[in-house]
Amino acid sequence: MRHRVTLIPGDGIGPEVADAARLVVEAAGVDVGWDVQEAGAAVADREGTPLPERVLDSIRRSRTALKGPITTPVGSGFRSVNVALRQGLDLFAAVRPARSYPGLPTRHPAVDLVTIRENTEDLYRGIEFARGAPDTQRLRAALEHLAAFRVPDDAGITVKPISITGTRRVVRYALDFATRNGRRTVTVGHKANIMKFSDGVFLETALEVAREYPQIEVREMQVDELAMWLAWEPETLDVLLLPNLYGDIISDLSAGLVGGLGVAPGANLGWEYAVFEPVHGSAPDIAGRGVANPLAMILSAAMMLRHLAEGAAAARVDAAVAELLREGRTLTPDLGGSAGTLEVAEALARLVG
Ligand code: NAD
Repeated sequence: MRHRVTLIPGDGIGPEVADAARLVVEAAGVDVGWDVQEAGAAVADREGTPLPERVLDSIRRSRTALKGPITTPVGSGFRSVNVALRQGLDLFAAVRPARSYPGLPTRHPAVDLVTIRENTEDLYRGIEFARGAPDTQRLRAALEHLAAFRVPDDAGITVKPISITGTRRVVRYALDFATRNGRRTVTVGHKANIMKFSDGVFLETALEVAREYPQIEVREMQVDELAMWLAWEPETLDVLLLPNLYGDIISDLSAGLVGGLGVAPGANLGWEYAVFEPVHGSAPDIAGRGVANPLAMILSAAMMLRHLAEGAAAARVDAAVAELLREGRTLTPDLGGSAGTLEVAEALARLVG
């Protein structure tokens, strides 16, 4: 069966790790028709936008995409392509597994976590009011009137919406995921004690939906305490369910527990579309040198294969990565080795072939 997949190589190390992933998927014997779509900084210069409609159209046709990282300029320039993609395709659940591998030195050898992050709401919704702008002055006046609160006139403002509808679907996804994958506990991270009307909605909705899943133990934990447990005893945690911003931070923290961003894959899922991408960014500091670790992108491709019902091929790719790490001979510099991106991909291609 031939699968159609949109491949977005992205910026920085993106094209290097995308080539590597493509090589391994093809070596695993899965027949994929890749629709390669450029997006990102160079595209913005040429086409006026970093995420042209043709890219979204391609994903709407293929329904599945494998994506490299895309650079987001800080403070100015275009808004994050990643956020636009998640919102444009309504990819409401981000799934980011973090597990320790034998052979890969970490302080915590028995971690097996999955962070499920709400992906469309919260402070990342993009409702922002720039410092000093006329709309911001109007908002400040309204807040003074409604909440008897004077926002300093030199403040910028970001709004944090969290809805029952937005939360319910990701909670269901997390509980279904836990059930399907034989996981026992879902820990809901929040700050509902401080942000009663946003995080409060997230927590109440999660606890309400949880009643329909008696087979899963659902615990709640303030996100600062969760950060402490992650640093202290991460092996006691299982599935983590978080609103958007906390999920972003906690999933990077989790990646750090098991060997860093080079081995942290991810998926962004909605009702209709799925975009698989590593947790890491475009790593401009090492781009173009052929030393980027392709494992996060390759593990993301394995998640994609599972989504495409190519479970056997996905299992072969996962096993090949575990074997490569156990042997420890063909590793990129971030993992203490001296191999290049292509060398790692070729070694994996031999293992899966
Ligand atoms: P980053 O993940 O690109 O890099 C952080 C550090 O990790 C760097 O030292 C980098 O060299 C290293 N690193 C990351 N991936 C690696 C890999 N595969 N192999 C070896 N080392 C790796 O984070 P950043 O520097 O904060 O962000 C750079 C750019 O990427 C920014 O513009 C940011 O907005 C963007 N970004 C994009 C995505 C995405 O497309 N989903 C995600 C995160 C960041």
